[in-house]
Amino acid sequence: MIVIATKMNIHEHQAKEILKEFGAPVSNGVVILSLNEIKEKISQLKGKKFVLKAQIHAGGRGKAGGVKLIKNIEELEKEAKKMMGKILVTHQTGPEGKEVKRLYIEEASDISKELYLSCLIDRASSKIAFISSTEGGMDIEKVALETPEKIVTTKIELQDEIENKDLEKIISPFKFNSKQKQEASKLVKILYRILIQKDASLIEINPLIVTENENIVCLDAKMNFDDNAIFRRPEILKLRDFNEEDPIETEASKHDLAYIKLNGSIGCMVNGAGLAMATMDIIKLYGQEPANFLDVGGGASKEKVSAAFKLILSDKNVKGILINIFGGIMQCDVLAKGVVNAAKEINLSVPLVVRLAGTNYKKGKEILDTSNLKILSASDLNDAAKKIVEAIK
Ligand code: ADP
Ligand code: MG
Repeated sequence: MIVIATKMNIHEHQAKEILKEFGAPVSNGVVILSLNEIKEKISQLKGKKFVLKAQIHAGGRGKAGGVKLIKNIEELEKEAKKMMGKILVTHQTGPEGKEVKRLYIEEASDISKELYLSCLIDRASSKIAFISSTEGGMDIEKVALETPEKIVTTKIELQDEIENKDLEKIISPFKFNSKQKQEASKLVKILYRILIQKDASLIEINPLIVTENENIVCLDAKMNFDDNAIFRRPEILKLRDFNEEDPIETEASKHDLAYIKLNGSIGCMVNGAGLAMATMDIIKLYGQEPANFLDVGGGASKEKVSAAFKLILSDKNVKGILINIFGGIMQCDVLAKGVVNAAKEINLSVPLVVRLAGTNYKKGKEILDTSNLKILSASDLNDAAKKIVEAIK
């Protein structure tokens, strides 16, 4: 079964700005987009030791050389020059890595302990879950797998305030003194408020540290936001960094198409999210993987269909395309015209299987049949999936 959830990601420095605005403990830092900003910006920071942090939409930077402790300004300039423009490959970027286009320079902390704290929407239970662990700073998935007893999950009902017993449970693994308990409770309430007031789906502080002076500080911050709620959070939408997104997905959003890139080799064009999911599932059933999720929606124009078709083909992994349309509001002849136009324009070279049903399907089929394109038509969804899997072998 394939689960699709769309989310918007922001940079660490942006997440820390939000945390700061809500009163959470974060270190002072400045972001730079070009190397010649260093001198001027660094004057805003205190202390002599800094940490230079690559800003990319992926974690695991520390182990990949994207987080460097810096002792003086000369070293800062040298390391920044090395880091800016570098392709950083972490366990979250995939082998192609991500180009570093902005750097964050933060005052360094003296760390005594690294902890883990996150807050997220738990869809399965329809609750808000807090996850806390003493094993901060590392891969939490690994901790969950190897030492699950070190992870405490606290699920709470959506309400105005977190109850004290839940607060206590959330921070219990940390073994804090009473002053730290107060600070941590305040932080938990802040994360909860941000989650709700900004429509975040995940806020992850890893690590949350205890300093040598026994203060707690959010040393890393990751935030995801629910795409479906972004329209009512223009201040969050402003933080979007297109450099970090898949260019095909960006192009799709310009055409108002719900497209999500996946890793398989069969491109799909379907109308309706439910039918799109079913189509992807049946491709898997026949032993192949879908290359994308794409819902062209009801009543799509010929131009939109063309744009969608070109998007699918711009993914180099696509070895074949399956179009599955159940015409309700969508008209099969409009779809066929869009497909034929696009296929001619870009010289379609991969097998294409089309299954049309519903409104104007006969007209649609006729347009496809007389188009001189090599199209395999299918009688139903099962037949369509079987044919495309066969065709790309
Ligand atoms: P990532 O999760 O991408 O590896 P983090 O921001 O968590 O990046 O940084 C990795 C590690 O670097 C942290 O676990 C911490 O040990 C260290 N670190 C990060 N920021 C600072 C800082 N401001 N001061 C001191 N150490 C830091
Ligand atoms: Mg981290």
